[in-house]
Amino acid sequence: MAEQKRDYYEVLGVDKNADEAALKKAYRVLAKKYHPDVNPGDAEAEKKFKEASEAYAVLSDPEKRRQYDQFGHAAFDGSGAGTGGFGFDFSGADFTDIFGDIFGDLFGGGRRSYGGANNGPMKGSNVRTSVHITFEEAVFGCEKEIELTVNEECKTCHGSGAKPGTSPVTCTKCGGKGQVTFTTQTLFGTMRNVQTCPECQGKGKVIKDKCTDCRGTGYTPMRKRFAVDIPAGIDNGQCKRLTGLGEPGINGGARGDVLVEIRVGRHPIFQRQETNIFSTVPVSFAVAALGGDIMIDTVDGKVIYNVKPGTQTDTRVRLKGKGVPNLRNKDIRGDHYVTLVVQVPEKLSHEAKELLAKFDAVNDDSLHAADRYMESQKNNTKENAKEGKKKKKLF
Ligand SMILES: [Zn+2]
Ligand SMILES: [Zn+2]
Repeated sequence: MAEQKRDYYEVLGVDKNADEAALKKAYRVLAKKYHPDVNPGDAEAEKKFKEASEAYAVLSDPEKRRQYDQFGHAAFDGSGAGTGGFGFDFSGADFTDIFGDIFGDLFGGGRRSYGGANNGPMKGSNVRTSVHITFEEAVFGCEKEIELTVNEECKTCHGSGAKPGTSPVTCTKCGGKGQVTFTTQTLFGTMRNVQTCPECQGKGKVIKDKCTDCRGTGYTPMRKRFAVDIPAGIDNGQCKRLTGLGEPGINGGARGDVLVEIRVGRHPIFQRQETNIFSTVPVSFAVAALGGDIMIDTVDGKVIYNVKPGTQTDTRVRLKGKGVPNLRNKDIRGDHYVTLVVQVPEKLSHEAKELLAKFDAVNDDSLHAADRYMESQKNNTKENAKEGKKKKKLF
C-alpha cells in the first residue's frame, strides 16, 4: 500500500504557476487518454486516470490548491504523510460537479457512470427505409407513398404495459429512480458508479401483470402509410427525413424520425453528374457536313438544335439550364451536355451509293488534286520545271 505519491503538478505536467485554463487543458488530455471507458479492464490506465483526477480536483479548487502548495499531500491526509492512503475524499456528488463539464466536452454529454437520470424523456429510435424513384422524378421532384411498421401506443393498456385494471408499480430495486448506484472503494476513496436499473431498465416502474395485447411493452407494431415529398434535384443515395414519424419516445420523449433513402433508377439515355446531365445524339453524315437542325431529347422534352456545318464526331455541345435543379433552389439548374456522334451509313440504296460515289469523286477532285499534281510533276520535272510552276498556279 505504501506508495510514494507523485506531485500533483508533475502528474498533470504543468508548472507551479499554471492557471485554471492550463490545468483544465492538461487534465482534459490525460482524462481522455486514461478514461476507464476508453481503456476497459486496463488497471494501469485506471490508476493514471484516478491520479490525474485527484490532482485536478485539488489544484482546480483555489482553497485546496493553497493548502497543497503549503503542506503538500499531508494537507489532505488526516494522519500525516507516509500512510500511503489517498486521504482526499472523493465520495459524494462533488466528483460529478468537478468533472461534469470536462466529461460533457469529452464524451458528448451525460455519461452513464457520471450521473444523468435514465428515466427522463428519451427520443424514440429513427426508422430507416428506402424508396425507388425514376430519373425524371429525381430531377423534378415527386410525392411517394411509403409503408412501414412503427410502434404505436397499445390501445388496450394505453401504453402502460399493464393489464387493464392494474397499473405498473414502483420498482423496488431502484425505488423508482431508474438507476442504481454502486459504491466502490478505490485507491483514493469511495467512487460512485451509477447504472441503469437492471430490474426496470431505467423506467422506474415494473409491471406485475402484463397487458396481453402488447406483452407489457405498451406498444403494438402498426403498419402505416406516409406520403414523402421528394424535392426536385435529389440524387441517388440521399436521405429525406420525416421528423417525428419514427418510433415513439420513452418517458414522454419525442418520437424518432423516419429516414427515407432515395434510390434513383438509371435512365436509358441520360446520365447525371451532380446537377449536369450527359447524353449522346447521333447526327447524320450529311447534317454534320452541311449543318442543319436536329432534335435532342432533354428532361424538358425535345429541343431543336442547329448543328454547325463541318461538325466533327464527338463534338460536345451545351444546352444551358437543361440540367438538374439545385436541391436548395430549384430555379437554379445545371446544364445538359450533348455529345454529337456522326453516323456512317451502313446500308445504302443503289441511288444513295451512286450519289456518294459522285460526291467522293467531286470531293476527291478538290481534296486530292494536289497529290495528283505532285504525281504529274515527278514525270515532268526533268524536262519542264517551268511548266510545273505554271500548273501550280492553277490550283
Ligand atoms: Zn398493452
Ligand atoms: Zn428499477
